[in-house]
Amino acid sequence: MRQHVPRKRFGQNFLVSPDIVAAIVAAVTPVPGDNLIEIGPGLGALTGPLLEKLGRLQVVEIDRDLIATLRRKFSPEHLAIHEGDALKFDFAGLGDGLRVVGNLPYNISTPLLFHLARYALQVRDMHFMLQKEVVDRMVASPGGGEYGRLSVMLQYRFEMERMFPVPAEAFDPAPKVDSAVVRMVPRPADALLARDEDLFGRVVKAAFGQRRKMLRNTLGGMIGVAELAALDIDPTARAEELAVADFVKVVNSLAA
Ligand code: SAM
Repeated sequence: MRQHVPRKRFGQNFLVSPDIVAAIVAAVTPVPGDNLIEIGPGLGALTGPLLEKLGRLQVVEIDRDLIATLRRKFSPEHLAIHEGDALKFDFAGLGDGLRVVGNLPYNISTPLLFHLARYALQVRDMHFMLQKEVVDRMVASPGGGEYGRLSVMLQYRFEMERMFPVPAEAFDPAPKVDSAVVRMVPRPADALLARDEDLFGRVVKAAFGQRRKMLRNTLGGMIGVAELAALDIDPTARAEELAVADFVKVVNSLAA
């Protein structure tokens, strides 16, 4: 019998494959002293093996029933539990060199990635299990249908590596989709070349807002055809043809 009835609204699919758990822990390679936080520990499938390597760990979990279970399983000297919504959690208070790990709830994965991107400069690395299609979009190159706002916004800030696929049967209950593990390592501050990052976000959003339209239309209210051409960007191209560096060029020209 299940020790907890999975809640759909919290995206609860619990890892039940020891091989996948071991593969994630090996990808993270935690060592004592690491400043590591796990998002959504659930019943502790990853938490236990991570704790074995680390001795001490922090988690953020939203489900009170699961928190009660975690408190029974792990002592407070080893596991510090933050009760609440990871989307609202202030990661700034956790210090530098932060390592973030999570088998993320699929229903909030994109907003959570955007939320975490704000703390990138204090993060050492992040390892996430996500829906395979989301990982495909995160690591996509320009020119294809998978390349979009998520790819550009995250690739600007992080080096990303798809680690390995995870079949649906590795979870209970099995989700309807396959998953994959991705590693995200923040780029150093001096590699972030956009002069105005809010503007960068607005330009990328506008360009992909109507992704079948040409840049001269989607960005028409922001930048002229001649200015685009002067940056070596074809005004008749579509957003999906632009590299991250092209978006940076547009932003810096507008910010100049
Ligand atoms: N880590 C566990 C595992 O691998 O078996 C559970 C993974 S399950 C896919 C997602 C976990 O995130 C659940 O424990 C769920 O309650 C928790 N969760 C869902 N939404 C959350 C949120 N907004 N903030 C923090 N935790 C959340």
